[in-house]
Amino acid sequence: MSFESLIEQTREALREVLPETIEVSDIELEGPHVVVYTKQLDAFLSGGDYLRQVAQRLHRRVVVRSDPATLIDPKEAEKAIRALIPPEAEIAQLFFEPETGEVTIEAASPGAAIGRGGSVLNDLKKQIGWVPTVVRTPPIPSKTVEEVRIHLRNSFDDRRTFLKKVGIRIARDPLPEKLWARSTALGGYREVGRSAHLLTTQNSKVLIDCGIDPGSDRTPFFNAPELLPLDSLDAVVVTHAHLDHCGLVPVLLKYGYKGPIYCTAPTRDLMTLMLLDAIKVVNQEARKALYDSSNVRDLVTRTIPLRWGETTDIAPDIRLTMHNAGHILGSSICHFHLGEGDHNLAYSGDIKFERSWLFNPATNRFPRLETLVLESTYGGYRNVQPSRQQATEDFSSLTNKVLARGGKLIVPVFAVGRSQEVMLVLEEKMREGKVPRVPVYLDGMIFEATAIHTAYPEYLNSQLRTQIFQQGDNPFLSDVFHRIDSQSMRSTVLDSKEPSIILATSGMMSGGPVMEYFRAWAPDEKNGLLFVGYQAEGTFGNRLQRGVSEATFFDGSRQASVPVKLEVATIEGFSGHSDRVQLMNFVASLDPRPQRIILNHGEESRILDLASSLHKRFNVESRAPFNLEAIRLI
Ligand SMILES: [Zn+2]
Repeated sequence: MSFESLIEQTREALREVLPETIEVSDIELEGPHVVVYTKQLDAFLSGGDYLRQVAQRLHRRVVVRSDPATLIDPKEAEKAIRALIPPEAEIAQLFFEPETGEVTIEAASPGAAIGRGGSVLNDLKKQIGWVPTVVRTPPIPSKTVEEVRIHLRNSFDDRRTFLKKVGIRIARDPLPEKLWARSTALGGYREVGRSAHLLTTQNSKVLIDCGIDPGSDRTPFFNAPELLPLDSLDAVVVTHAHLDHCGLVPVLLKYGYKGPIYCTAPTRDLMTLMLLDAIKVVNQEARKALYDSSNVRDLVTRTIPLRWGETTDIAPDIRLTMHNAGHILGSSICHFHLGEGDHNLAYSGDIKFERSWLFNPATNRFPRLETLVLESTYGGYRNVQPSRQQATEDFSSLTNKVLARGGKLIVPVFAVGRSQEVMLVLEEKMREGKVPRVPVYLDGMIFEATAIHTAYPEYLNSQLRTQIFQQGDNPFLSDVFHRIDSQSMRSTVLDSKEPSIILATSGMMSGGPVMEYFRAWAPDEKNGLLFVGYQAEGTFGNRLQRGVSEATFFDGSRQASVPVKLEVATIEGFSGHSDRVQLMNFVASLDPRPQRIILNHGEESRILDLASSLHKRFNVESRAPFNLEAIRLI
């Protein structure tokens, strides 16, 4: 369908559905959504489920807004909002967007602001003409969330022009012939790192993930001819904010990609934090980053955030729905519906098929599914991990051992995911008196990443959500945690003789503040170094895990060398990845069972092992492509 015919079809659907008294003043495309402007917003919204009926006819999300001419003055609107919303909602801020006729209300209790079944908001809409959206005031203020919101407001005009272009592009006519589709491995196949997959049909091209390799400088196969020119891509989809999945997305923008990026809102914010930090880390090592902060800002402008379960057209013949992957905040399994249901495939991204301290297990139900692309980090026969509960016990006893002998414990963590779980474990164990109350220092973005978690409670499991918001004792705000945000504070901690615990990035010890603590504390056998996450081959963390008596590494821009006397231990059960048993269970309980499973994101032997087991046990076609290979889907 072309742009013109989509607008015409919308006009027709509106004519059929709406009574004559409701006048439509304009119809526009905004990214994947159709936007309808009317002078009678009140009647439009209260007269029946017009919006749903129109959306159903068009198979698209439809948004209705007031004709800008009918909006009341923002000052008057603010008065009305404050009068109508009950005080217990605790409004923190209001943002008016005259261009869209939207007002964002930041409130401590969104439920009170929205009212039962949206009653307060509906009354408000009728009174002020502006369309209100309510967002929660984060209990821990996040600089990133704030900056992203400010940036989106400031880049409003650019974004609007951009979304219109995207909408027109998505609405173009697909070729009339029978659909074909293939999935090309561009990185992260028979290896961990630099994840990148290209989904191609004769009409469309979608890139899923574009990551760095944490163990080396290798990038995905950017020069593969099917990826070029970059502007021939319709969409870039990001499963989650770890750098091995999103670290090189800004490079695509720098070298000519002009389209949208789809991910969840928390992924957008975490990704912004991680990407900006990665520039800092690289610069500290006197290397040049492959992109700069302007590319990251551009990325934020062009990100179209999607909610789990919301189906969106991202190309003329591709629909995307994101589902919980259970791995880190906002991490998603991406489900693609091709053509008129000709084929359905899901890219798992990284998944955890177990309820963790933070998240529900990964979704395993899809309306349809013929092909699954599945991660295999712990896919080997022997890669069985202890449960979360066992991991928690192991963690406590190791911590107690190190603290009892007067040592300090270093826990290298990814800022996102494992840090928050370890924080929750420590807070609970210290509260229960099972681990002595010593200071827990957080260094390198961990605090900020935690703040972003509290800004998106709907992505956490219900127990944690209740703990944060209803019981009023947010574990992340416990006084055992101390944020390290300056070199002088870091020096004080490094020089202190008292036992303490430090959680610091980077998770695989490939740079970042963790290196300073390691260098200072490695020569003392009283101390401990505890790995709680996957250490990719080639990383410094992996070398230490294998056991070394002397460690040589880059400290800033120079080579450093220290004797390794501290106790090095690994606790597997905290992984954000499914272990072998969970991967098999995930496939066993998949509904529906796919015909084909393509394996990636794992060391080669583990991938091959998993491929053969999946084939034997489930009688599915299992594939383990090399990078640059393509698999025809239909
Ligand atoms: Zn990940």
